[in-house]
Amino acid sequence: MSQHPAQDRIQDKVALITGAASGIGKEIAILFARQGARVVILDLDREAAEAAAREIAEQGGTALGVAADVTDEAQVEAAFKQVADTYGQLDVMIANAGSQHVEPIHKLSYEAWKKVTNIQLDGSFLTTRAAFRQMMQQESGGCLLYMGSVHSHEASAMKSPYVTAKHGLLGLCRTMAKEGAAYGIRANTICPGYVKTPLVEKQIPDQAREHGMSEEEVIEKVFLKDTVDKEFTTVADVAETALYLATFPSNALTGQSIVVSHGWFMQ
Ligand code: NAD
Repeated sequence: MSQHPAQDRIQDKVALITGAASGIGKEIAILFARQGARVVILDLDREAAEAAAREIAEQGGTALGVAADVTDEAQVEAAFKQVADTYGQLDVMIANAGSQHVEPIHKLSYEAWKKVTNIQLDGSFLTTRAAFRQMMQQESGGCLLYMGSVHSHEASAMKSPYVTAKHGLLGLCRTMAKEGAAYGIRANTICPGYVKTPLVEKQIPDQAREHGMSEEEVIEKVFLKDTVDKEFTTVADVAETALYLATFPSNALTGQSIVVSHGWFMQ
């Protein structure tokens, strides 16, 4: 197990990551556990959450898989109670669960709009409130991280609920930075470019159809068009950023968003 510069700051910390049974969240859980954190993999998909926790345990890490829908108040409350009962503390909460829907506004159903905004905005509210209530009682405070996107700063056609939700997360994060300061709670947002996870794999055919392009053309002309190197952002890029923010030692970094996108968006 390699020594990471942040290791002494994350060792034994309890980090709960929502939507961590897959993609970006799972990679964050693996990296944090490798550096000695006790991770909680909260996901809608019970089997996948438990499998991810087992995978981490098999590598010598400490992980708990918890099934919950971040949009369900009772399930969120029960999940955070389980964490408090198990570990007695919560140091990092990463609101990462999310979904995508690609369609122009004139075809978009209210159902599709609500599904995307519900998971990302309402889900982030419920998990933030539960985490905040725990962290404000701890002398050590805590760290809230939000999985934004380049779409927290930039729009793309056919993604109105996603772009709206990701912009909204910046507002929640900044408010938490202000409300959290008195309790030693910091809040920051990570804004990745395109990362090849199931969320993006699923979009490639949808975008190809909506743009009238081949899948290869969509990758080159839509997804990676403005990157400096025509490279996808990786789950490892995002996990390293999460570790950096989770272990940053002061309030100098709070209320911020960090864009991790191979230069697609420069702020
Ligand atoms: P993913 O589809 O691989 O993983 C999402 C996870 O969230 C899944 O395990 C799913 O079961 C879980 N989830 C969905 N709804 C949930 C709910 N209601 N309650 C609990 N869990 C739920 O996706 P990913 O690409 O790893 O995305 C993770 C986050 O990163 C999302 O917020 C996404 O918007 C953001 N993001 C992704 C990219 C990208 O290119 N992949 C870029 C920028 C931001």
